[in-house]
Amino acid sequence: MKLGPRLNDLEKRVGNLERRVGHLEGQAKRASPPPAASAREEASPRCPGCRLPMEERGGRCVWCGFVMDAASPGRA
Ligand SMILES: [Zn+2]
Repeated sequence: MKLGPRLNDLEKRVGNLERRVGHLEGQAKRASPPPAASAREEASPRCPGCRLPMEERGGRCVWCGFVMDAASPGRA
C-alpha cells in the first residue's frame, strides 16, 4: 500500500481549490460597491426643488425654501 501518489494527488487538488477560492474572493471584492458611496449619499440628501445638497434631512432647503417633509419618500 503506497500513500505517496495519493498524497500528491490530494495536494494537487487542494492547490487547485485554493486557487479557485482565491479567484472567487477577488471577484466578490471587485463586484461589491464601496460602502462609503452610499453612506455619503445618505448623509447629504439633495433638494428635489433645486437639486442642491441639503444639510439636514426632513428639514427645509436653505437655498430655495423647499420643505422636505412634503416629499419624504417614506410617506408614499
Ligand atoms: Zn432647494
